[in-house]
Amino acid sequence: MPEMCPRCGLPKEICVCEILDREATKRIKIYKAKAKFSKFVTIVEGLSGDELDKTTVMLKSRLACGGTHKKGLIELQGDHIAAAKKELVNLGFPEGNIDAAT
Ligand SMILES: [Zn+2]
Repeated sequence: MPEMCPRCGLPKEICVCEILDREATKRIKIYKAKAKFSKFVTIVEGLSGDELDKTTVMLKSRLACGGTHKKGLIELQGDHIAAAKKELVNLGFPEGNIDAAT
């Protein structure tokens, strides 16, 4: 007898309750950090896996800036806090889950 999820009644193997919980509580932080030569980078924190890759590519193209991601952080060259937040909301991230340090 497989273990059943008490919330959805499905076997734990195929239940997605925990994933939904994680998505719902996932918070994204956007803030500015100092880079070399007194320039700024915009950091987007809180994404993971595939999402990190795709979102980095999307943000770079939409904001027309350079950027990369490392150790779970997206790093965009320049100050793009407000614009990055707008793009993430367009992508479907709940606005209330995004903390933008403007
Ligand atoms: Zn469940």
